Amino acid sequence: MFITNAESVILQVNKAFTEITGYTAEQAFGKTPRLLGSGRHDAAFYAAMWQAIKRTGEWHGEIWNRRKTGEVYPESLDISAVRNQDGAVTHYVGSFRDLTATKAAEEQIESLAFSDLLTGLPNRRMLMVQLQQGMIASEHDKRQGALLLVDIDNFKDLNDALGHDQGDLLLQQFGERLSACAKEGETVARVGGDEFVVLLTQLASSSLEAAMYAETVANRILAALRQPYRLGASDISCSASIGVALFGARHEDTVEPLKRAELAMYEAKAHGRNTLRFYDPQMQEAVNARVAMEAALRQAIETHQFVLHYQAQVSDQGRITGVEALLRWPDPKRGMVSPAEFIPLAEATGLILPIGNWVLEAACKQLAQWARQSGLAHLTVAVNVSAKQFHQSDFVDQVLITLARTGANPTRLKIELTESVLVANVEDVIAKMNALKGRGVGFSIDDFGTGYSSLSYLKRLPLDQLKIDQGFIRDILIDPNDAAIARMVVALAESLGLAVIAEGVETEVQRDFLAGLGCHNYQGYLFQKPLPIAEFEAFVLRV
Ligand code: C2E
Ligand code: MG
Ligand code: MG
Repeated sequence: MFITNAESVILQVNKAFTEITGYTAEQAFGKTPRLLGSGRHDAAFYAAMWQAIKRTGEWHGEIWNRRKTGEVYPESLDISAVRNQDGAVTHYVGSFRDLTATKAAEEQIESLAFSDLLTGLPNRRMLMVQLQQGMIASEHDKRQGALLLVDIDNFKDLNDALGHDQGDLLLQQFGERLSACAKEGETVARVGGDEFVVLLTQLASSSLEAAMYAETVANRILAALRQPYRLGASDISCSASIGVALFGARHEDTVEPLKRAELAMYEAKAHGRNTLRFYDPQMQEAVNARVAMEAALRQAIETHQFVLHYQAQVSDQGRITGVEALLRWPDPKRGMVSPAEFIPLAEATGLILPIGNWVLEAACKQLAQWARQSGLAHLTVAVNVSAKQFHQSDFVDQVLITLARTGANPTRLKIELTESVLVANVEDVIAKMNALKGRGVGFSIDDFGTGYSSLSYLKRLPLDQLKIDQGFIRDILIDPNDAAIARMVVALAESLGLAVIAEGVETEVQRDFLAGLGCHNYQGYLFQKPLPIAEFEAFVLRV
């Protein structure tokens, strides 16, 4: 038997394959079945075969193949296309019988059975094939996958009490619900009596992100499985325990993730059932912490806990030309939480949208207020906008509406984008920037030098400013590479007709060095740490 992917590349062969053809698994992997070609059939023969497979999903017939030894032999061959839920071919399974030695044949027919009879779901054997494929893809793409082992709580008792016919019905409904929870490309298999597996592949490359996704799926499954089951005339409740194991770049055997998921599943049982556990206790902790923080973030949004702090942007002559608004979260339990800690989570959960709107609104209100105060009216306010926020289809409208509602002067608003915003949907990015630029809003690229902007691309953007990332400023006096990059950014800004500002300037020597390079705008602790509004205003009016 052999299994190929949709491109006919051999993924798996069994022992009998090797016995018949003489090719070991290693020699067959990555090749197509043409490896066995005898040369006795013409192109039309193979074309007809593929046509039949395309039309009906299978082909049966007799064919001449060649062993590794060179010997040509007759075989009876069955090819079947394996399709996913959407009807797309994911594999081909070839099963063949050496007609010169028919004895080996019986065993092969058995291995054709890839689905579980009771539920119609893929069985353990099929799961292992898909798991292997998922693991190869994970290793290759450096993306994580997850295996969720779902085990019905107290199934044995239920089965005994209900009778086996009802028990079978329960298993069927259980399988249906699991399938309903799975998305396209996610495999649900029944691997044992009351054990099911959900296989998630091609998740994020970060383990934490992948774990968060797996946990969301597992929770969705737990909630779905908890609903009562209609068996005949009665409603039955039952729950399940889920063990989650990740697999990733590491090369390992297919049984390893399954073993880990099983251990985790026993942990879940030990924790009172109807729950999920990760194999890795540290992962469990990290996921718990993220879940707790997400809940706290939601609360913070609802109860308006965020504040803005302001950090001065200073020109050569020591004049304060503007500020950067920096988000602060004074959490009752955690103290002042740094945006570096919660912005990534806010982005992953979509909470960045309400948060970002709040920041924009608060910054614009501040602008409008300063416009009426002497000594403050000239200040610009730079606002950080994350990729997700910027890529919202109504971002431009949101900014314009906020400006109009607050009465802020658009020419005093500057939007800081990171290079990561600029890499996707080039035309859309340019259109949005132009629309806002047309109303007077300015744009700066934050953390410049850490991303991958191409020069030709930068030229097309209606930018005002590049902001040299603080990572290059820190060691600018000792690390010649950092100094070279800073010098390059200044030159680039000059040639593009843009202003340039350095962030994270902490010492006078750093400032003087930057001035020597031609950078005359700074932000950093040398001048002022980010301050709450009252202190900031006092600071500006004192200078
Ligand atoms: P950023 O926009 O690059 O902001 C600069 C960070 O450097 C700020 O950290 C600031 O407090 C810090 N900093 C300023 N001067 C110095 C200095 O001299 N030395 C050192 N070591 N650090 C300095 P913060 O406030 O913790 O913000 C971190 C990041 O969080 C920001 O980096 C920005 O990417 C993000 N962020 C902050 N506020 C918002 C917001 O309202 N929306 C979004 N989407 N992101 C925000
Ligand atoms: Mg910034
Ligand atoms: Mg920055």
